[in-house]
Amino acid sequence: MAEYERMKFGCLTQAGKAEVRERDLGEIGDLDVVVKQLACNICTTDYTQWQGKREHQGYPMAGGHEGSGIVVATGKEVKSIKVGDFVAHSTTGCGQCRACAVGDFYNCENTLGIGATTEDGYRGGQFGFSNYAKIHARACFKMNPDLDPAEAGFLEPVATATHGAETLQIHAGETVVVIGGGTMGLVNAQVAKAFGARVIVSELQPYKLEKAQKLGLEVIDSSSCDPIEKVKEMTDGKGADSVIVAVGLTVANNQALEMVKKKDGKILFFAAGYPAPSIDIDTNSIHYRRLKLMGTMNATQADYAIAAKLLNYRLINVKELIEEKRYDLDHIQDAFAAADGNKYRVCVMLQDEE
Ligand SMILES: [Zn+2]
Ligand SMILES: [Zn+2]
Repeated sequence: MAEYERMKFGCLTQAGKAEVRERDLGEIGDLDVVVKQLACNICTTDYTQWQGKREHQGYPMAGGHEGSGIVVATGKEVKSIKVGDFVAHSTTGCGQCRACAVGDFYNCENTLGIGATTEDGYRGGQFGFSNYAKIHARACFKMNPDLDPAEAGFLEPVATATHGAETLQIHAGETVVVIGGGTMGLVNAQVAKAFGARVIVSELQPYKLEKAQKLGLEVIDSSSCDPIEKVKEMTDGKGADSVIVAVGLTVANNQALEMVKKKDGKILFFAAGYPAPSIDIDTNSIHYRRLKLMGTMNATQADYAIAAKLLNYRLINVKELIEEKRYDLDHIQDAFAAADGNKYRVCVMLQDEE
């Protein structure tokens, strides 16, 4: 019996409760890859459900989608991935519909992501917090083996920020303001910089401001000044070309309206908030200012390919965005209890120390 026939995994059974369970890995399909998972980071989606803010996602939730590991087996039709490869994974779709044919899994007509339920009743169906995972070959991206497994686990967040940067059509030398210096704020900021922008991070917590500065980003300490005035001052009175709102708050949305340049400015709403934030603007203003208010979510396979390069060639630094204290799978409850909006990514290590 192969060591991976049974998988051990963490799942949420109710708000505030993460449990370790076991199940069979199941039959390995011709295009499946078995990954000996090394690490999985707790995403905002995961910990806000633990906090009881996403009850609509349902239970038991076998979430976790920011993981990486070593390939230990492949189905007989798999060609691009080999045993021993270090991989991180993308979200995936059915692979057969029109959207999937162009790598746009977010628009999959038969989605397997959140919303789907496995035959044995698990929501999410991602099983990211597992010691072994069965993943479709198309969702595996080869990562630089020199990366820490928790760094490689940033493939999905970096891909979503890449999708945002593509949506904004960032050009070299443009000023992009990122509101929020949490994990996704600083991922977005670094990705925008990699796309050629001058990036300013607006944040009020000293710990996060320090992080942003350590990553070589310009910052605005919004606890000690009016961030709108400061953006104007830093842009010769013009305002930013684009603003990425990386916190789900009405106040941030409204700041973005004032920080962005008067005409032809673009605002990207990257973060969800619970309760849902709003924005105070009339449509005349959108019309006369030719404002572009855009949403983003998820990523295409092309974005994942760019994200893998940004990480593999170390064009962005995510090491700084991982909390020092890590948890093993058996202590996943403690890991969830430690993760919140004031922290950077909390990492769950998935193999027992040998
Ligand atoms: Zn995520
Ligand atoms: Zn599909």
